[in-house]
Amino acid sequence: HTATPDTLSLRGITLAFGGVKAIDGLDLDVKPGQIHGLIGPNGSGKTTTLNVISGYYRAGAGTMTLGGRTLAPGRSTDRASHGIARTFQTPRLIGEASVLENVMIGATIEGRASFLEAMLRLPRHRRDEAVFRERALLALHAVGLDGVAEVRADRLQHSELRFMEIARALMLRPAFLLLDEPAAGLSHDEIDRLASLIRAVSDAGTAVLLVEHHADLIFAICDHVTVLNLGRILAAGSPAEIRSHKEVVSAYLGA
Ligand code: ADP
Repeated sequence: HTATPDTLSLRGITLAFGGVKAIDGLDLDVKPGQIHGLIGPNGSGKTTTLNVISGYYRAGAGTMTLGGRTLAPGRSTDRASHGIARTFQTPRLIGEASVLENVMIGATIEGRASFLEAMLRLPRHRRDEAVFRERALLALHAVGLDGVAEVRADRLQHSELRFMEIARALMLRPAFLLLDEPAAGLSHDEIDRLASLIRAVSDAGTAVLLVEHHADLIFAICDHVTVLNLGRILAAGSPAEIRSHKEVVSAYLGA
C-alpha cells in the first residue's frame, strides 16, 4: 500500500453517544517519527479517539486528513489501506488457530486478501499466503514470539497475547500504529520489552499513538503527550511539560 510519511491530523472531531460527548472538538496530529502518548482518566475519550481514527466509529463532526488529503468518514478497511493499524484493549484471537495464523489474519484486512478468500483458499489467496506467512514470521520475531508460532493461540499467556496483537497489527506494515493500553496486565520486565518494541517500531518509521495508563511508560518513550479530560484536551506537550503541568498533576497524575 501507499504508506506515505505524512501527518495524520484530526480537526474538530466530535462524537456523542446519546447526550454524552465522548470527544468534543478534538484537534490532534500524529506525526511520522513520533511516539505520541494519549492519556487521561477513565471515560475521557481515549479509546473513542482510536475508534474514530481507525474507522470503527464515524465522527459526528470534524475532519481527518492524511498528508493534507481528507479521509472519507470511516470504514476500518479503508483506514487500514491508508496504513493505519491498531490493537485492542482486549486482545482478539481465534483460540483454536495457531499464533502464526492469528497474526496472518492481520494481512486479510489489507484488502489484498479478504477473510472469505482466505477461508475458501482462492488462488489469489494461495499466492499471497506464502508472502503473508513470511511476513507473519518476521512480525512474530520482532515481538519475541518466534518460539510459539505453531502453538494454539488459546494456550498463550495474557502477556503473550498482547504481543501477538502487536505482531498482527505489524502485518499491515503500518504508517500509523494505534496501541490501546498495550501494557495492561504486563509485568515490569514485560513493560520494558514493550517499550523497546515500540521504540523499534517508531525507529523503523511508523508513527505511534499510544493510549496507556502506565504513566512511567508514557513519559519514558513518548516524544509528545496529549492529556484528555471529558473529551477535550486538557494539556499537550513534551513529557517534561506534561509532568510539570499543574492541572494535569492535580487532576490526573494525583501528586
Ligand atoms: P477512555 O478510553 O478514555 O476510558 P472512552 O473513549 O472509552 O474513554 O469513553 C468516553 C466516553 O464515551 C465515556 O463517557 C463512555 O462511557 C462513552 N462511550 C464510549 N463508547 C461508548 C459506546 N459505544 N456507547 C455509549 N457510550 C460510550
